Amino acid sequence: MSKSTKSDLAQGAVQAMSAETGQPEQTVYLNGEFMPLSEARIPVLDRGFIFGDGVYDVVPAYRGVPFRWPQHLARLKRSLGKVRIENPLDDRGWTDVVTELLVRHRWDDQFVYLHVTRGVARRDHQFPAEGVRPTVFAMSSEFKPVSRQAIEKGVSAITLPDERWLHCDIKSTSLLGNVLARQTAADAGALECLMFRDDFLTEGSSSNIWVVLDGKLLAPPRDTLILEGIRYGLLEELTRSRGVPFEIRRIRRAEVVSADELMVTSATKEILPITTLDGKPVGTGVPGPVYRELFAAYQEGKAKSHEKGWPPPA
Ligand code: PMP
Repeated sequence: MSKSTKSDLAQGAVQAMSAETGQPEQTVYLNGEFMPLSEARIPVLDRGFIFGDGVYDVVPAYRGVPFRWPQHLARLKRSLGKVRIENPLDDRGWTDVVTELLVRHRWDDQFVYLHVTRGVARRDHQFPAEGVRPTVFAMSSEFKPVSRQAIEKGVSAITLPDERWLHCDIKSTSLLGNVLARQTAADAGALECLMFRDDFLTEGSSSNIWVVLDGKLLAPPRDTLILEGIRYGLLEELTRSRGVPFEIRRIRRAEVVSADELMVTSATKEILPITTLDGKPVGTGVPGPVYRELFAAYQEGKAKSHEKGWPPPA
C-alpha cells in the first residue's frame, strides 16, 4: 500500500452496515479475518475468557496515522514475551491489521485495540500443549476529542491503596484490580484514582500519574509496580525539549497530597491536569504552568507525527 493519510484512504473505506440498526457497524479483526463486530465469536474455553490469560494494547490514531506506533508495537511484544505467548504476527502483519481497521472506519481520530490470548484449550491452569494457537482480536473505536472542560478546569481524583498484583508492567487483560479501583473512583465522582503501595505512588487505574514539586516534574520509577505508558517516554522527551526539570524517583504520599500540580496521562486522556484530590484543591486548584507547557508540547507532537504519514515503509 502506498503512503497515504486518512483523507485519501477514507475514499476507499468500506464500513459494514448493521442489519439491526441500519447504522454503520464496527469492523473487527479476529484470527486473520475482518468481520462486523456482531459476527465476531470466540469459543467459551478461550483462556482469555476463562483465566484473563492474555495481553493487549491500545493505540491512538489521529487522522489515520497511529501515534507512536513503534513504541506500542514494542510494548505489545514485551507483554507477549513476559507471559510467554508466542507473537502471532510479524511487525508487518500487525501494521497491516492496524492500517486496515483505520481505513474501514470513517472517524477522524480512532483508537485501535489489539488483544492476544493464549488460545482455546481444555480448562487447566497450566499452559496448553504446543499447537494451541493464540486468539488474535483487534478493533477500532472512535476517539472523541478530550473534553475542553477537563483540559481547562482539570479533573478530580481520589487516593486508594494499590491492591493489584506485582506484575503491573505487563499489559495484561486480567484487569480486575484496575476495574475495581476505577469503579471506586467513579462512585466517588472522580475521573481517576491515584494508587499507593507502601506509602509510595504507583499509578492510576488506567493511566500514569505525574507530580510537580517546586517546578520539577516527578515520575514513579519504571518497574514492575506500574505499566510504563507510551506517554511515559513521550513526556520524558517533552520535558527535555521544553527545558522542564524532570526526575524519576519514588514519590511519597505526603509529597503527592502537597504537590503544586498533578497530572494524568493515557492514550485516551492524552494529558490532563488533576485539580482536585480527595475533594481538596491541588496547588492553586487550576491547571498549572508545567501542565500547560506539556499540553502544548503534546499537541505539537501529534501534529508532527501526522506529517510522517502512514503506513510506514515496508
Ligand atoms: N497504566 C495503566 C494501568 C494503564 O492501563 C494505562 C493505559 N493503557 C497507562 C498506565 C497509560 O499507558 P498509555 O500511555 O500507553 O496509554
